[in-house]
Amino acid sequence: MNTVGVDIGGTKVKAGIVDPQGQILNLIEEPTNKRDLAGQLFSLIERQVSIKEWNIEGIGIGTAGRVDAAGAIHYATANLPGWMGTKVKQLVKERFHLPTVVDNDANCAAYAEMELGSAKQERNFICITIGTGVGAGIMINGELFHGVNGGAGEIGHMIYIPGGRPCGCGKKGCWEQYVSGTALALDINEHNELAHKNIRPEDLFELAAGKDPCAMEVVARFIKNLAVGIVSLQNILDLHFFVIGGGVIHSSHHWWELLVKELQSITDQPPVARKALLKNDAGMLGAALLARNIPVLKGRGA
Ligand SMILES: [Zn+2]
Repeated sequence: MNTVGVDIGGTKVKAGIVDPQGQILNLIEEPTNKRDLAGQLFSLIERQVSIKEWNIEGIGIGTAGRVDAAGAIHYATANLPGWMGTKVKQLVKERFHLPTVVDNDANCAAYAEMELGSAKQERNFICITIGTGVGAGIMINGELFHGVNGGAGEIGHMIYIPGGRPCGCGKKGCWEQYVSGTALALDINEHNELAHKNIRPEDLFELAAGKDPCAMEVVARFIKNLAVGIVSLQNILDLHFFVIGGGVIHSSHHWWELLVKELQSITDQPPVARKALLKNDAGMLGAALLARNIPVLKGRGA
């Protein structure tokens, strides 16, 4: 039995066919069509399920935004206009007549790390995804914790600096305005020296490793903000460890040691952090694997 996993993000949508071992058999990736996201979703799934030889029996969809228990979008940021309120699970199920599950993209990534990645065989951890924004999947006793409205793990929107930088969610000073790719771009703009050199967020860590004083200052603050948030989360959740993934992990060879040291400097019981293993495909893989857990499919094996 194979399943289709879809990952819907603000910039890209990808759909893959995934086998029981988590191998990707076929993958399609497109820029997000914000004007007709539902149409794009249907088209991508159609192209995958129509390949009869793959024997697709379920569909998993990971999407940005909060997803309620019925698989509808309870909340989506302005980044995906028109997505809020969309009954994704119902629409896809009616169209393809296949068991379907819909969950938040960071939740899917956490599930994939538990099944295939750096949290294999672990049951209590939090997986933080740091990209344009910041999200997380909280795994408790091997199950995703969703909260009442599907909003659990929206850690990027914890208020970190009251009255601080405005956030896409409408609040001010959210954590993701200080620890995401967006935050780094804002930091660069605030430093004339970096802005004039057209430094991109992804270049910043390498520049800091090369001892550029401005870049070092920005990176040090970024790491401090990240570590402070992680320590606070550990006080709330008391889980075994943190998995950290998302786009920022690609440059982690430049900053991982700094993070570990910062965590140790804040508390004498520093939380344990691990690097995510699954990189860019985590959300899609997790969605596909979650589909295998739909009650009607569970236990069907290969
Ligand atoms: Zn926010």
